[in-house]
Amino acid sequence: VRAERLVIIGGVAAGMSAASRARRLNPQMEVVVLEKGDYVSYGACGLAYFVSGVVPQAEDLVIYTPEYFRDQRGIYALTCHEALEILPAKKQVLVRRPDGETAPTDYDKLIITAGGAPDVEVPGADAPGVFRCNSLADAIALRAFLEERKPKRAVVIGGGYIGLEAAEALRRRGLEVSLLERSATLMEDLEPEIGQWVEERLRAHEVSAHLNSTVSAIDPAADGSLVVSYGQRQTLTADVAVVATGIVPRAELAARAEIELGASGAIRTDDRQQTNLPGIYAAGDCTETFHRVTGGAVYFPLGTTANKQGRVAGENAAGGNASFPGIVGTLVTKVFELEVAKSGLSWAGARAAGFQPEVVKVDSRSRARYLKGKPLRCTLVADRPSGRLLGAQLAGEEGAARRIDVVATALAAQMTVADFVHLDLGYAPPFGPVYDPLLVAAWQALKAIGRRR
Ligand SMILES: Cc1cc2nc3c(=O)[nH]c(=O)nc-3n(C[C@H](O)[C@H](O)[C@H](O)COP(=O)(O)OP(=O)(O)OC[C@H]3O[C@@H](n4cnc5c(N)ncnc54)[C@H](O)[C@@H]3O)c2cc1C
Repeated sequence: VRAERLVIIGGVAAGMSAASRARRLNPQMEVVVLEKGDYVSYGACGLAYFVSGVVPQAEDLVIYTPEYFRDQRGIYALTCHEALEILPAKKQVLVRRPDGETAPTDYDKLIITAGGAPDVEVPGADAPGVFRCNSLADAIALRAFLEERKPKRAVVIGGGYIGLEAAEALRRRGLEVSLLERSATLMEDLEPEIGQWVEERLRAHEVSAHLNSTVSAIDPAADGSLVVSYGQRQTLTADVAVVATGIVPRAELAARAEIELGASGAIRTDDRQQTNLPGIYAAGDCTETFHRVTGGAVYFPLGTTANKQGRVAGENAAGGNASFPGIVGTLVTKVFELEVAKSGLSWAGARAAGFQPEVVKVDSRSRARYLKGKPLRCTLVADRPSGRLLGAQLAGEEGAARRIDVVATALAAQMTVADFVHLDLGYAPPFGPVYDPLLVAAWQALKAIGRRR
């Protein structure tokens, strides 16, 4: 009997997690990964650290090579193989091979992990000296330009966490850096009090951030520099530009095969990562997922989610029964020395989702004062009618990232702030004040929503 054949489209976080899990669960299964790029299994989350030079070699980001997968795990990871069409009726994928030839390949089970593609292009973004930082190939091209051409002035377009990481990487290389963000907030939905700290930190490192600044064009000048037009006829001149305006799900291949997309435009799956077509699963940045706080679908592309969903898809494709319960919207990043962390909904996000939120702000310290704790700021959002905790954000040089995991846990458990105030969080002077900033914020939130315990 022929072995069951699993084909996976895309070979990074979700794809290789799926391949590894499926093969482990069902060693008889033939597992083939189609990756259109040159690399599989790399840590995309570390790209900015390669650009800055903290990570010396591109290979340092590659977790496993195709040879490792073949020899150690019996997985065929084929680079420079692009899936052109999914043909569900024939259970085939049409593949373009490295020699340019196109041929169909059969599958019994299929997992789509095609990731995300850069969103709407800024006019002129294809000019020389303009880069993205979405894939390892992008980061290699950007770093080569920085090392060979030694540009002095950089513009980063987009103030999400990837734009912020790129700005820091360029600054660490000694460039003058400006950052342009079209909305009024950095990192999508930071509460103003947290965003303010991020802006201050950027200023302290001489990164000039311009909010409410939509870029309308990038024009190459005669001297080889770039003129970036934004806002009301303002311009910036730079030698290099990094476009970090976000991604959209790569879902067109699936859509053409009549695989259902959600309202977000990403592939819709159930909690087993199964699409509407039998035997076809999807995971990672090409899919939308369930938000456990709003109870609705959301496009929230992150590596941590892609790995987990990939594992679930791989397990189910191999005959197992795993499920992915969704996310609560946790994100941490570092802006120079500042840890910035959020989980759940911001006040504005909660309003938009139909809650009646109250937000409180607490300024505290990361350790006991006599141990020279660093300033730590926290905001917390609660729902007035139900008393539910809806989200929190933290910023500070220490203690912000670890505390957000408490919030993420409480959100997954759908805790009320009345329950949250009684959490037995760890305390010793080197780790926090005796009343943890999160607990103080929860007390204040209780007052704000008019409940006591
Ligand atoms: C600079 C940066 C920093 C990040 N930092 C973090 C972080 O700190 N924490 C975090 O959780 N996440 C982070 N992320 C996000 C994380 O990297 C992504 O969520 C994750 O890589 C998604 O994995 P994926 O497998 O779904 O998709 P991808 O990594 O996008 O991989 C999809 C792959 O599919 C291939 N492909 C697409 N179409 C086809 C086709 N038709 N045929 C064959 N192959 C195809 C693509 O070439 C690509 O290699 C970061 C991302 C970037 C860019």
